Amino acid sequence: MAGLVAEAVSLTYTGVGRDTVALDRLDLNVADGEPVAVIGPSGCGKSTLLLLASGLLQPDSGTLRVGGARVAGPRLATALILQDFGLLPWKTVLHNAALGLEVRRVPRAERRERVMTSLARVGLAEFVDSYPGELSGGMRQRLAVARALALDADLLLMDEPLSALDALTREDLQDLLLELWRQRRHTCVLVTHSIEEAVFLGRRVIVLSPRPGRVASVVDNPRMGEPGYRSTPEFYERCAELRTLLAEEGAVGGLVDRETGLVEAGEHR
Ligand code: ADP
Ligand code: MG
Repeated sequence: MAGLVAEAVSLTYTGVGRDTVALDRLDLNVADGEPVAVIGPSGCGKSTLLLLASGLLQPDSGTLRVGGARVAGPRLATALILQDFGLLPWKTVLHNAALGLEVRRVPRAERRERVMTSLARVGLAEFVDSYPGELSGGMRQRLAVARALALDADLLLMDEPLSALDALTREDLQDLLLELWRQRRHTCVLVTHSIEEAVFLGRRVIVLSPRPGRVASVVDNPRMGEPGYRSTPEFYERCAELRTLLAEEGAVGGLVDRETGLVEAGEHR
């Protein structure tokens, strides 16, 4: 069981001469096995939320629970995929994919087996001896996904994992993430800047307000995951609904980026 519950979670970063309230009494409830997307203005605390959920940061107040247990530190079955992939350039694909298991002290023989299986699932079986620098952006992202898969995680946290990729590679990886979720039914929290990505991969889409982040609205998206959803009228309707909600958030104090429909607010003001 790996539902994620955040209750009145607050976090302030203390800096020289200035404190930044990143999250202010944020409540969130993600059911076990539910895929959720989180979208919001840049600087509103999305990455902070994932760091808290992964146990790498502790809140100043409020609580986070995974599967009913308070998150007191990094948890074995929680995987975090970051925007820059977190790959080590001097290690091979095989080693990079095994990093999470190494940290968790899984024996070498078992490590190899689990890593080979997960690399095969993302289509990288033939590249085990390559180095990240020899891979395309899409392949590097697949490698980061393989590393998370090898952990057999029941909670997958992703921080704008596909934002560095070109549009076609990105759709390809979105399909892969959807397929993996269909097979494994893990709890998923995907932070994204892309409205289409949120609607493609989130059964619910959580819209955060400008900093300090709180849940501004929640869009239900029950048809997420159905075959061909990307080209249905409902898909476009959900996207339009989200675009409107994000623009409303922009009215609180920022500019709406015309291309992404997103709001730039917070530290730039
Ligand atoms: P998002 O991921 O939504 O863009 P973040 O969670 O990264 O937002 O950051 C929320 C706010 O906290 C931003 O204003 C950011 O500048 C600030 N912040 C993030 N990390 C730190 C840090 N380590 N020290 C100080 N301020 C930070
Ligand atoms: Mg971020």
